[in-house]
Amino acid sequence: MRDAIIQLAYLVAAVMFIFGLKGLSRPRTAARANLIGATGMLLAVVVTLFDQRILSYELIVIGGVIGALVGAFLAMRVEMTGMPEMVALLNAFGGGASALVAGASLYETVPFTGSAPLDFLIAAMISTLIGAVTFSGSLVAAAKLRGLINDAGKSISGQQLLNAALLMGAILISLWLVLNPTQLWLFWLVVLLSVVLGVTLVMPIGGADMPVVIALFNSYSGLAASATGFVLNNNALIITGSLVGASGLILTNIMCKAMNRSLANVLFGVAGASATGPAADEVYAGKVKSTSPDEVAMLLEGAQRVVFVPGYGMAVAQAQHAVRGLSDRLDKLGAEVEFAIHPVAGRMPGHMNVLLAEAEIPYDKLKEMDEINPTLGQVDVAVVIGANDVVNPLARTDPTSPIAGMPILDVDKARSVVVLKRSLSPGFAKIANPLFAADNTLMLFMDAKQGVQEMITALDELTE
Ligand code: NDP
Repeated sequence: MRDAIIQLAYLVAAVMFIFGLKGLSRPRTAARANLIGATGMLLAVVVTLFDQRILSYELIVIGGVIGALVGAFLAMRVEMTGMPEMVALLNAFGGGASALVAGASLYETVPFTGSAPLDFLIAAMISTLIGAVTFSGSLVAAAKLRGLINDAGKSISGQQLLNAALLMGAILISLWLVLNPTQLWLFWLVVLLSVVLGVTLVMPIGGADMPVVIALFNSYSGLAASATGFVLNNNALIITGSLVGASGLILTNIMCKAMNRSLANVLFGVAGASATGPAADEVYAGKVKSTSPDEVAMLLEGAQRVVFVPGYGMAVAQAQHAVRGLSDRLDKLGAEVEFAIHPVAGRMPGHMNVLLAEAEIPYDKLKEMDEINPTLGQVDVAVVIGANDVVNPLARTDPTSPIAGMPILDVDKARSVVVLKRSLSPGFAKIANPLFAADNTLMLFMDAKQGVQEMITALDELTE
């Protein structure tokens, strides 16, 4: 009876996760969906605590308090722009925890019985292998995003051979352990090989591909958790892990498409990882025209259709509320205002949507790249706010560029383009951007928030 209630509660929690995930796909339902998912998780945790047979409540409380304190401290300190790093760290801890739980279960079971069920052993070794690869690979990804490791891809000679050898080694030793469970020390050898594999896998991948890698490890951490669910015979963990694994894979696919990279190319192709492309001097010399907030205000006052293109710089400057103010004023002047959202603008999937939603910009003004690109030719003014790579026409024209083939927002086709950023510094991909030197482009060299605020003041003065 007790077991039936527990399994039923897990089922309810799983259904809540699924509805939560579904709701998260729309901005309008996202907040409620988050709550549904979190309630499902609370239910699963509470039920698991009632089901606990081995651990003492003291240990659980101590672990929970320490984890909550560290988590709260990190979450409060992290800047919006540091989210990908934070996600990478969470993936690392998720993967590491799965590997350790699998190891603990092996040590708890095998020495007493001298053996263990085959499915238990296989699941434990899958969890160990994927979990340990996720742990070290995600740590390297986080270090690259933080700039602790040079983010330009570095090819180690014989790289792919080494990776294949490490993977084969880890699989063969895992199989040996499954067949000879008493040789438990082999667990640590699998951990070691997998940890090294995680490092050698991510080390050569260029920083520009890190978003894909993080999404992939997100999926791996789910798969490792799911395998751990089989080890612990816990249905909630199996279902949650599978959901994370599947949604991570879907996200990886979306990110690959947004960057026009195949997954195999990201993981194994080092070409294009380092920054190449024309030198900045060559692109900009004598061609860049700078402007002032007053001049931009005049341009905007006469515009019928304005498209804002937010990017990483808007997030850094926290300019979203000022942008909302400017958009409201243009609305009042009768202009049609839209926001063009590139799938990898900023530093995390959905980064721009989150910021614009925070500023309560109506969802129907947010247009995805595929929807808005065909119409950009009819736009009077495109205002690019702290975006760079996602509007770089080199992606279309230079096959040697690190962003070659990445679909971009074709703002260069608008009648006038205003680019608001502090300097001619490159973006994430570290390459020059010919858009800044185009005939129809004006550069407003300012901090994004200050620039937009001064545009508002100038527009107010004009329209008084
Ligand atoms: P970019 O990183 O290409 O460019 C951002 C620009 O913002 C910089 O050129 C910088 O120029 C400017 N900037 C920085 N601070 C400010 C400020 N305070 N005010 C005004 N401008 C500022 O950003 P994009 O959004 O165009 O492109 C995102 C890039 O990040 C892509 O290459 C993508 O692949 C990558 N990426 C995306 C992730 C995701 O999941 N979305 C995750 C990780 C990477 P200046 O210094 O001159 O002001």
